Amino acid sequence: MAEQGPIPASAEAGFVFSMSQPENPFIADPYFQRALAAYLPEDILAEVVPAFTRFAEATISPQVKEWNLNAERQQPFVEKHNVWGARHDVDRLVTSEGWRALRKWGAEEGTVAIGYETRYGKYNRIVQHAKNYLFSPVSGLTGCPLSMTDGTARLLRSQLPGLPASHPFHETYDRLTARTGSWTSGQWMTERPGGSDVQNTETWARYAPLSSKTEGEHGALDQGDYLVSGFKFFSSATDADVTMLLAKTESGKLSAFLAPLTRTVAAAEDGGGGGTGKVVTNGVRIHRLKNKFGTKQLPTAELELKDMRAHLVGPVDRGVATISHLLNVTRAWAFVSSIAAMRRGLGISKQFAANRTVFGYPLWALPLHLRTLADIEVRVRGFTQLGFFTVSLMSFTENGFPESGTLKASPPLPDPGEAATVVLRALTAAAKAVTSKNAVVTMQECMEALGGVGYMDDPDEPENVARALRDISVNAIWEGTTNVLSSEFVRHVLNRNHLEHINSWLSKAIDGVGNRDYREALQASWGNLYGRLRKNKDYIFDVLSVGRSVMFSFSWIVVGVLLAWDAQRDGDELAGEVARRCILNGEGGLREWLLPDVGVPSAAARFDESKERAKWDCRLVWGKELPDFAPFGQRIPLGSKM
Ligand SMILES: Cc1cc2nc3c(=O)[nH]c(=O)nc-3n(C[C@H](O)[C@H](O)[C@H](O)COP(=O)(O)OP(=O)(O)OC[C@H]3O[C@@H](n4cnc5c(N)ncnc54)[C@H](O)[C@@H]3O)c2cc1C
Repeated sequence: MAEQGPIPASAEAGFVFSMSQPENPFIADPYFQRALAAYLPEDILAEVVPAFTRFAEATISPQVKEWNLNAERQQPFVEKHNVWGARHDVDRLVTSEGWRALRKWGAEEGTVAIGYETRYGKYNRIVQHAKNYLFSPVSGLTGCPLSMTDGTARLLRSQLPGLPASHPFHETYDRLTARTGSWTSGQWMTERPGGSDVQNTETWARYAPLSSKTEGEHGALDQGDYLVSGFKFFSSATDADVTMLLAKTESGKLSAFLAPLTRTVAAAEDGGGGGTGKVVTNGVRIHRLKNKFGTKQLPTAELELKDMRAHLVGPVDRGVATISHLLNVTRAWAFVSSIAAMRRGLGISKQFAANRTVFGYPLWALPLHLRTLADIEVRVRGFTQLGFFTVSLMSFTENGFPESGTLKASPPLPDPGEAATVVLRALTAAAKAVTSKNAVVTMQECMEALGGVGYMDDPDEPENVARALRDISVNAIWEGTTNVLSSEFVRHVLNRNHLEHINSWLSKAIDGVGNRDYREALQASWGNLYGRLRKNKDYIFDVLSVGRSVMFSFSWIVVGVLLAWDAQRDGDELAGEVARRCILNGEGGLREWLLPDVGVPSAAARFDESKERAKWDCRLVWGKELPDFAPFGQRIPLGSKM
């Protein structure tokens, strides 16, 4: 009998790796739960935890996977002309069923509405963004139009008190903040001469009120007093119902406008034979859809506007100041989605490492791989703190600060009023910029952690980190690039008395850090940064040239304070280890852009290459002890499971 040799692999036989089933992302994210427990009072927490558990389960359901697949596979396209060559009354933007279902689901789940409902009172923005954190990784990018909807709603809400009940903004606001039958809003700022610098806008608004209006003094939504014409170079919410946009008036200065994308023409305008009228474009023509590196589900278009009838929002010639309210809202969506993407990327890397074997070692226990994953854990924790602290401050500045004692943990908040507004503005720009920039590096690391398969871009795979990397990269560009936000940050901090407000808050927060080593390290860094800023207050152009380092240094200090607070509030050992790594060692992903005298490893720093560090890495990544069979430099038995 012939001896049977080794059996070679074939296309069908041999080793095939299989990923474990994804876990419920809320249950599998104890740090997020810990953060929520610090920022929410007990009664709200008790209500939202079961709700989030259920929602998170839905995010990994076959239905949501199918919607995402469909949105990825069937990318949007435009039909402009009929078969005879005549232009349609409204350019037909065809989006996938999956995209539309995801957007509807997001709205119904309250990703926008929660921010305006009274159910969670002062904490509504925290609950809203906690939901977005769970929604965004599976949202198929529908978080983009939803974020702009949120921004427009926030802006309109600030206008409503001064408007008569008959004004169409009331209904628009109700629609934008509804859960069912809700509208979405776009935000059209960027033009060919520049998105960062909108002063070069080539879109013009002409005051041309209708001689008669159907509904009251202000007319219906499609009866605004201005006719807007121009060319918008980027519009992501091209299938929106309404849009906010910037245009110049005859003064040559920018004003903000709101306009519906379609309007209903009366029978007479319709050529007389159309009965009750029909829906036509409100002067918007889709020039073309853009071909992008990522966000391919999102219908980003170039638009030509011709006599688009629009309502002025806010004071004339104050367009940039008016629309900045919207930007602060959309930036929060950007940093929450960046944090969520990093957490999801780390989760997928762990799913893989838990089952993969390399060089005879289980990957999950390999010290260098553990170190890589632990570094990501430290980053994600720091950004989770920065993000949810900022969102909390947003919630409290909008709805009122919590009475003392309501929150068990008492986050180091600034004083209510002007100080809080100044700090919030600085934090919103900084959090958006540093988390978005870091998400790109982090997602690349997560992709690499999956080896070659990480680089595959298969729409069928929910664990497609490559796609997540492509998609998340845009967060560093839209709503302000890193350098534009750095410049905004510097100008804001050096404006009027803002630096003193920031110093009062941050110095007090640092003084509240109980651990002496941490406190002294943070004091030294803030002392250096504050000293530089004070000294150069009148030399803004000098400071602008190092704006990125200034903003990253500020962010590192805030992250350090928050991690220290997180550790001391209940003495949690893992939280303490993360705080130590960030504050004393300068770890946590921000180091590359720090000023030379900020985040310098302190005398108490410990960069131990010893097994002790690996033990902490293992606790941080896997929540358990490094197994006895994992001594440094020795082989670990094959097949050792977590
Ligand atoms: C997928 C996608 C969707 C988008 N959707 C929308 C949308 O719906 N609505 C919308 O209005 N816009 C949208 N944008 C546009 C986006 O907001 C702009 O691209 C962005 O603001 C940058 O503007 P810009 O492209 O004109 O670049 P520029 O402003 O020309 O910037 C070029 C470079 O100059 C740098 N720079 C500019 N100013 C400064 C400064 N003061 N200091 C230092 N460096 C500076 C920038 O950092 C950047 O690196 C979208 C973009 C993308 C990629």
